[in-house]
Amino acid sequence: MKTIILSLLSFLFIQVASAQRFDNVEITVEKINENLYVLFGAGGNIAVLTGSEGTVMIDNQFAPLSDKIQSAIGELSSQPIQYVINTHWHGDHTGGNANFAKQGATIIAHENVRKRLMTDNVRPFGRTSEAQPEAAWPRLTFDKNMQVHHNGVSIQLLHYHAGHTDGDALVMFGDYNVLHMGDIFFKDRFPFIDTALGGDPDGLIAIVEAALMLSDANTTIIPGHGAVSNKEDLRRYHQMLLIVKGRVMKAITAGTSLEDVDVATIVKDYETWGEGFIKPEVFVKTLYKAYSDEGE
Ligand SMILES: [Zn+2]
Repeated sequence: MKTIILSLLSFLFIQVASAQRFDNVEITVEKINENLYVLFGAGGNIAVLTGSEGTVMIDNQFAPLSDKIQSAIGELSSQPIQYVINTHWHGDHTGGNANFAKQGATIIAHENVRKRLMTDNVRPFGRTSEAQPEAAWPRLTFDKNMQVHHNGVSIQLLHYHAGHTDGDALVMFGDYNVLHMGDIFFKDRFPFIDTALGGDPDGLIAIVEAALMLSDANTTIIPGHGAVSNKEDLRRYHQMLLIVKGRVMKAITAGTSLEDVDVATIVKDYETWGEGFIKPEVFVKTLYKAYSDEGE
């Protein structure tokens, strides 16, 4: 009984703590041009396209933030939110799906985003991302790519490979030379590669290379997390991926066990990249497992 009460109390504590966590979040807006904005709060970066035909939003953070996000978007345009595009299924990017769909938005995403949101997904560390209600499921899905022509611009949704997840989309606003990369790109941070659920490091590198080809010196690049970036920032990230991967491969080839791998040597010159969500040990372990026989 004591255990039940204790676990109930800790459950309530977690609930209250997470509600409070969002209470203090402020949504800030960065203008890219007359019609395109980036919104920051808690979770993945949101892009918002405004225009007379209705607003399009790319990603939508956590459900408890939907009201705040909606009012921030309301300051930018009086039009309703017509389309919600998901760069991938993770809850810090799709948590608001059901809320915005109930307001009339149509959700668009890769087919695997729909599949993931329809079922429980067992995550690393024994966590489970529970299936989302039907309202949160994308209604329009694609396999390779899709174009959305809206507000006088064409939005390209591009799926190359499994990378961060098995349903990643790059979102290119070609008319504006703006690219939203979702969590394929964390600015100056090691990436999270969801290898337990179909993510793939080589796929992620290949998608970064495709993004570099889509970009020029003037391209505005919106990462999944972190400040609005440019091609130089993406190039630096690409170089980090290749260097760290090379060092991990070298350790594997030398017969070094995962336990004996010297993480500090592997991330040398990139120490600050491990100060975010993904610590050096986690990134190195992910790569080691993916490229060695210890692969999951
Ligand atoms: Zn993610």
